Amino acid sequence: MTQPACPHKRTQLIAKDNDAQYVECLDCGEILEAGEMEKKEGAGFDESLSDA
Ligand SMILES: [Zn+2]
Repeated sequence: MTQPACPHKRTQLIAKDNDAQYVECLDCGEILEAGEMEKKEGAGFDESLSDA
């Protein structure tokens, strides 16, 4: 028997990254990456300490 593809309808947020968030499917337990967050402009710049 082949299981139908899980639609991942019921999910819960488990982790958050800079520009992505990870949710776990409550039905199949799979970890999904939901990168629906908008990227901030100028995020490429590393805010390192600049010694004067
Ligand atoms: Zn699922």
